[in-house]
Amino acid sequence: MFREGELMQLAQQPAVATDPLDRILAGGEVSPRFQPILRLGDGEIIGYEALARGPEGDPLHHPADLFSAAMAQERLVELENLCRRRAIEAFQAQSLPGKLFLNITPDTLLQSDFQPGVTRRLLQGHGTSPEHAVVELTEHSPTEYDVLRQAADHYRCMGLSIALDDLGTGYSGLRLWSELRPDYVKLDQHFIRGVDRDLVKQEFVRSIQEIALGIGCQVIAEGIETAEELRVIRSMEVPLGQGYFFGYPQAEPPRSLPPGALGGAAGAEQRVGRRFQ
Ligand code: C2E
Ligand code: MG
Ligand code: MG
Ligand code: MG
Repeated sequence: MFREGELMQLAQQPAVATDPLDRILAGGEVSPRFQPILRLGDGEIIGYEALARGPEGDPLHHPADLFSAAMAQERLVELENLCRRRAIEAFQAQSLPGKLFLNITPDTLLQSDFQPGVTRRLLQGHGTSPEHAVVELTEHSPTEYDVLRQAADHYRCMGLSIALDDLGTGYSGLRLWSELRPDYVKLDQHFIRGVDRDLVKQEFVRSIQEIALGIGCQVIAEGIETAEELRVIRSMEVPLGQGYFFGYPQAEPPRSLPPGALGGAAGAEQRVGRRFQ
């Protein structure tokens, strides 16, 4: 129990941002990491996925924690806009080649203060053409597909491309793929992990690639970690890939990959390093 004097004291204290999310949003303390996405035919980097991080050592350093805190406190749009701004600024400041892939949490699309036009204004404000940006949409719950379809249409009208993220997990499935008509599908890392030793996964990858080819959509294999996984994915003519085998998400990523990055001794050496950042 507080005594009367103590309560008065508490009430008179100035409001300080002690909540981690509050502090991060007030100080703009998120920074992007970029992970290359490359053409598996020749190893050329075709773009980078922006992955947000809170301050180093902070309980909200990882995007999953950051975004669930923002969701719980109904500050999702604020956080999305901050991450978006930081990613576009850094992409432009480093003059990174290719396209910028930006994630969007499906719940954001349901918020009343969400405006898809913000992304285009930010891109144009930093001198990046909307044609150089790709919005990654995904689905974790049976949210109305109409909302996702509308968002995809909005972005497309503004000149951005659409990627369906995490294909094959949650509700990111064939129905969403057929309805959104994305330019890219990002095949979830579940199907890539150990694909070299799993004939069932190989059949799934092969079939997804065949559908994509038939409807003019490009597959990005997510989470390639080993030379063996890469070899099998390439043998199925999946055009694009991403994963720790080529590079971890970094604040200042390389503009191109060294010779041998697609395999051989030089490529295998790249696996050595920190697994998580
Ligand atoms: P995601 O969009 O599916 O991103 C891919 C995740 O897989 C990233 O985790 C990435 O670091 C990780 N990854 C990449 N290559 C490999 C690999 O070879 N092996 C393994 N095991 N993992 C790999 P991260 O950075 O922790 O991001 C987690 C999720 O947080 C993302 O999943 C995305 O949904 C969300 N996220 C990240 N940044 C943002 C953002 O700025 N806005 C929104 N709305 N969501 C974001
Ligand atoms: Mg993504
Ligand atoms: Mg993904
Ligand atoms: Mg994911």
